[in-house]
Amino acid sequence: MADRLLNKVAIITGGASGLGLATAARFVEEGASVVVTDKDEDRLDGAFGNISNIKPMDRRYQDVTDELGWSELIEYVLSEYGCLDILVNNAGIVIRGTAEDTTISDWRKTQEVNLDAVFMGTRAAIGAMKPSGGSIVNISSIEGMVGEATTAAYNASKGGVRIFTKSAALHCASQKYHIRVNSIHPGFIRTPMIDNALATMPSDEVEALLLRMENEIPLGSMGHPEDIANGCLYLASDESKYVTGAELVIDGGYTCR
Ligand code: NAP
Repeated sequence: MADRLLNKVAIITGGASGLGLATAARFVEEGASVVVTDKDEDRLDGAFGNISNIKPMDRRYQDVTDELGWSELIEYVLSEYGCLDILVNNAGIVIRGTAEDTTISDWRKTQEVNLDAVFMGTRAAIGAMKPSGGSIVNISSIEGMVGEATTAAYNASKGGVRIFTKSAALHCASQKYHIRVNSIHPGFIRTPMIDNALATMPSDEVEALLLRMENEIPLGSMGHPEDIANGCLYLASDESKYVTGAELVIDGGYTCR
């Protein structure tokens, strides 16, 4: 299929890697103009070597925790493209720690990137989308729905994204802005985020964890970035025009039971 996002203008944050990168590629395939942002400029340039031949990809430096940066990005997109139709708030970090040993600095950093930035991005996008409507997709996690002992700050941030999304969806609906706001809840998807977390663990523990994960995922394996990109595509496109404030869980059935 092609052209499901024809003539639409999208911003995807944290797009130099993993799920953001796959989503950017998918959106471009479907005809969107995509502005991909990340705080790592070199990786951003390198990441798009393979797909930039499909259509030039607009790459911008952005640290999503910088409030002024959001205004500048929106201003740039409106002046360059004339409108904004889609925002995917994807950038995120994970810092491991329990409710007992997480430092306040790790806690705050996690909320700043994973939750505060989603709020700032959503607020900025609503301002830009008001005249003609749009779709905001917030990347939460299954860890915004179920707890894990070793990711206390991450759980809190992703739970915040889940419920903030519903508040923003209700606000936009009540104001008749024609802006839909939804969250996506990926399960375990093999990306650099997961690989980096595994790299901090002893190899026998990694093997045991991977085996346990696969046994506990009803569909039998971790997901691929494209599985999440396809969910983003649905929520970004007009095919989901009656969907707002929803949670799209893409986890191979992990949270079913
Ligand atoms: P990833 O490969 O680490 O990609 C995340 C990207 O966001 C990286 O390029 C990262 O840059 C960037 N980023 C981090 N902080 C930023 C900031 N302040 N400003 C701008 N960019 C920033 O991770 P991923 O697995 O694709 O995850 C993408 C999203 O999905 C995250 O929100 C994550 O929580 C969520 N998620 C992932 C999984 C999974 O299994 N992979 C599951 C559930 C939810 P650096 O590498 O330089 O930090």
